[in-house]
Amino acid sequence: TNKATRSKDVTLVGAGLAGCLLATLLGRRGYDVTVLERRADPRRAGAERGRSINLALSARGLDALERVGLREEALAAALPMRGRMVHPVTGSPNFQSYSADGTRAINSISRSGLNEALLDTAEKTPGVTVLFESRVEAVDLERGVVTVARPDGVQELAASIVLACDGAYSATRRAVQFREGTNYAQDFLEHGYKELTIPARDGDFAIDPTALHIWARGGSMMIALPNLDKSFTCTLFWPKDGPGGLSSLSTAAQVRAHFAREYPDVVDLMPTLAEDYLANPVGSLVTVRAWPWTAHGAAASVALVGDAAHAIVPFYGQGANCAFEDAIEIDTLLDRHDGDWSRVLPAYEKARKPNTDAIAAMALQNFVEMRDLVNSRVHRTKNTAMHALERWFPSLVVSRYELVSFSTVPYAEVLRRTRRQGRVLTTIGALGATALGAIAARGLRRR
Ligand code: FAD
Repeated sequence: TNKATRSKDVTLVGAGLAGCLLATLLGRRGYDVTVLERRADPRRAGAERGRSINLALSARGLDALERVGLREEALAAALPMRGRMVHPVTGSPNFQSYSADGTRAINSISRSGLNEALLDTAEKTPGVTVLFESRVEAVDLERGVVTVARPDGVQELAASIVLACDGAYSATRRAVQFREGTNYAQDFLEHGYKELTIPARDGDFAIDPTALHIWARGGSMMIALPNLDKSFTCTLFWPKDGPGGLSSLSTAAQVRAHFAREYPDVVDLMPTLAEDYLANPVGSLVTVRAWPWTAHGAAASVALVGDAAHAIVPFYGQGANCAFEDAIEIDTLLDRHDGDWSRVLPAYEKARKPNTDAIAAMALQNFVEMRDLVNSRVHRTKNTAMHALERWFPSLVVSRYELVSFSTVPYAEVLRRTRRQGRVLTTIGALGATALGAIAARGLRRR
């Protein structure tokens, strides 16, 4: 503990998704929150290019937005996707619903639109001040100062409670990660990603806007999510380097030939494909594991929140949803521990870490699952069988996808429950196979 224990002043680094939500929640509790954001005000400067343009918002994110009155606004600006549309190389695409009853949907929403709505809400909250073009460079917990680079020079600002919501490459985390007893790991996938686009065609969506589209090709995979302007943002996941990889296509002709071969049903719907491919940056896919998430000095304490604490790969569409849950947890704990940061921060990291570890693991597993949709017939049968079991035994069987996307059951509990369920289903399957085997054997003996 330090003198920050009951501080009413909070320095929050990063006005991204988690930062804006948390600033709003803290402002409402009467805290004085200074938000330091590296970028210029996105409402004036225009969005950054190359970061994911839209994202899938599901139950956890919506639940969090509801607490700051943004749920309906978000849903109104989003497009519901009720299942995945799997596109084979040849033959027609097939639809697999996400839920047993076919009605539940994840929501495709513009990242910048959501961020701006959250920024507006944060700035309207008394006590919250957002400073743009303010890049945090260092944090000194002994002196209680944050070093910030601003257009008019480098300044030191006094800080007692520092909440680091500055994303996967958090500078705040870097400032404390080399302390004794602090563990940190970043695992990059060999796959990177590139964003492409399917524009509207004749004023309408060129493909079905009620699904998340997947072109699974084993080593690579492309997905597409719809936008309000009737375009789709495609994300191509492919190893970054090597002969079969993102860097292997370097001319417009190569790009077009590759897509004509691998994605023949959409290549003609992507008129700017070659330009986009050659111009757009390659993004990295990283899993960040840090522990502890908090550090304390004589004058200040810091806690990592959202991607800064636990960036995950995007294959479950949960990073932002999960980051929002962190903010809700801190808000809830401030209530429970009567604003005592010396109890709130340890309780926060202890409560969240098992859950963020669980979603990190499930997101990596889902990458394999999605790429394996190449065997879409096998997968479709499994999906149909699972949904049938869910309908017959609704209290016993719920798919992992549904628990992750359509419930707020803690991720660690989802992992435990679906592992147990998997074992039971495997046993039932084995018993069924044994029984069938016995019947077949008897049939053979009779003959
Ligand atoms: P960020 O949104 O990264 O915000 C960090 C903020 O801090 C930024 O505003 C940044 O400018 C600022 N900042 C950074 N450094 C500094 C500094 N030194 N000083 C001051 N400010 C700083 N999640 C989902 O839920 N659903 C999806 O479908 C989904 N799809 C994704 C697809 C891709 C390709 C990727 C890469 C991610 C996806 N995610 C998805 C994950 C999601 O984008 C992140 O989990 C989410 O943005 C994390 O929010 P955050 O607030 O922690 O960090």
